[in-house]
Amino acid sequence: MSTLVLDGCAVVTMDGQGSEYASGHVVVTGNVITAVGPGAPPPASLPDGAANSSAANSSAANSSGTIRRIDASGCLATPGLINTHHHLYQWGTRGMAADATLFEWLTQLYPVWARMDAGIVQDLATAALAWLAKTGCSTTMDHHYVFPRSGGDLLRATVAAARQVGLRFHPTRGSMDLGASAGGLPPDEVVEDRDTILLASKAAIEEFHDASPHSMLRVGLAPCSPFSVTSELLTDAAELARQAGVRLHTHLAETADEDEYCAEHFGCTPVEYLDSLGWLGEDVWLAHGVHLDDAAITRLAVTGTGVAHCPSSNGRLGAGICRTHDLLAGGVRVGLGVDGAASSEENSLIGEVRQAALIARSAGGPRAMSVRQALRLATMGSAQLLGRDQEIGSLEAGKLADIALWRLDTLPHAGIADPVAALVLGARPPLELLLVNGETVVERDQLVTVDEPGVAAQARRASAELAERG
Ligand SMILES: [Zn+2]
Repeated sequence: MSTLVLDGCAVVTMDGQGSEYASGHVVVTGNVITAVGPGAPPPASLPDGAANSSAANSSAANSSGTIRRIDASGCLATPGLINTHHHLYQWGTRGMAADATLFEWLTQLYPVWARMDAGIVQDLATAALAWLAKTGCSTTMDHHYVFPRSGGDLLRATVAAARQVGLRFHPTRGSMDLGASAGGLPPDEVVEDRDTILLASKAAIEEFHDASPHSMLRVGLAPCSPFSVTSELLTDAAELARQAGVRLHTHLAETADEDEYCAEHFGCTPVEYLDSLGWLGEDVWLAHGVHLDDAAITRLAVTGTGVAHCPSSNGRLGAGICRTHDLLAGGVRVGLGVDGAASSEENSLIGEVRQAALIARSAGGPRAMSVRQALRLATMGSAQLLGRDQEIGSLEAGKLADIALWRLDTLPHAGIADPVAALVLGARPPLELLLVNGETVVERDQLVTVDEPGVAAQARRASAELAERG
């Protein structure tokens, strides 16, 4: 069994008490955190022989296994960040429809996405996941909802990419069954019929979903949005998900256009519409939740429904400002998402923490969201939405070793008073180490699981091919 000791770093645990240590330690044994606290690690937390060696940046092996000690002074250890809304394939359509509304942007991009196949999706997903890792993300979901008829097995392509990069992965089998000819927004060429969707959803759960503790891969179901799926599909997907014990996700209340669509087609608000279909509950999390009235916020809180806040995407598309302060004050569970890179080109999860704090304060004043609340959204808040808060989201003994170690002693941050303010309000710090399930994914700001220039070259080729296929 290997042991890793991070020694001398600031530690922000995000545990229930908000424990923080100006100089502390984190000990990892195998894939589990076995000790967290102030000062040096207590000898009892280390395997035989390791307590005698105080040499920093040393590796040794004895009968207990490999022991690696890292001098982490100048760094801040946080839980690995958790992303609760993404469309990995959109890495290939960044920079398009740059000044459009959501409905204009979708209408322009649907035909491009219709040209995807599994090879392209795997290359684009690898790039998107690699960049997430470099921005401190250890767990991500994916919402893939465009399945061209001759595109091959796209969900499998994203799973392969996540295994290669080494992130904990929560892919959702997305879907659209309401084409333009039936009153929906997407063109008919990118929608599937309901039977095909339900069969593929069932197959995805059976093949990929791992419900065991410590799981690296859990599947959810995610019909796309009120204006691209039928109410029958929403009802059937919820029934299937609940039979199989997997979670439900969709886009909701993102724009004023969607509000109008729901009023016109269903005679109610987006939240009332989902409520009428049995789609609110602790097993459901919704992307965006920008246009919510007080009644909707209360209903989300009472039912335990979560919201994946995606501030950069909301800003990029001019969708509006999510009422995060009111959601949190009202008891709604809120996590953080980068959304697809086509509507959020920076696509950095630590960047999204900063954006969440700034946009909340722009709307509600400087106390609308503290820097620690913002970081909590991307850690314990997101873990709750994915149903993983007993396993990840905080640095506590017994939790999985998903850890980000940020370097705060270089030019942008050296001397800054508060490490959390440095991380949340300052420039993106160098990522000294990213551990996922105890394995190193990023070290000294370099990906160790994949070759970064190679991944970039593949993404460039895949994006160009997608564009040329038009
Ligand atoms: Zn989205």
